[in-house]
Amino acid sequence: MKKILISACLVGDKVRYDGGHNLSPYINELMNYFELVPFCPEVEGGLKIPRLRSEIRYGRVINEKGKEVTKYFKKGAELALNLCKYLHIDLAILKENSPSCGVHYIYNGFFENHLIKGSGLTSTLLKQNGIRVLSQNEIPLLLEELKKENI
Ligand code: SF4
Repeated sequence: MKKILISACLVGDKVRYDGGHNLSPYINELMNYFELVPFCPEVEGGLKIPRLRSEIRYGRVINEKGKEVTKYFKKGAELALNLCKYLHIDLAILKENSPSCGVHYIYNGFFENHLIKGSGLTSTLLKQNGIRVLSQNEIPLLLEELKKENI
């Protein structure tokens, strides 16, 4: 079965900055088509659970206390890419709005709860390396595509 990378919080792993998860209601359906490989770039990059919220400000990742934490986010992104290469993964489903996983939108970098167009460090690196990256909001469209292919 084809393997895909997925943000670990989307399968229910409690890896979010606040110790929570973002379980997607589509996980069981996705498992009919794919072997899911859950991965959290921030935890794998060396950050703890829970951890301070971080946002991307002018290309650097800054936490709520103003400390730069870019190196952890970069390491997580590189590890995600290595894993995709190792497992021949060409599709990733990542959690929208995150400074690591955000696919189309991220927060503006000033902790104002304001979204702007952009993508997280992991999402960007995977896209730059030819991996198709979708957000969890695009899972229904992907499932439609797969159903049509199987007719
Ligand atoms: S870094 Fe990605 S996988 Fe980890 S908690 Fe944030 S959105 Fe989920």
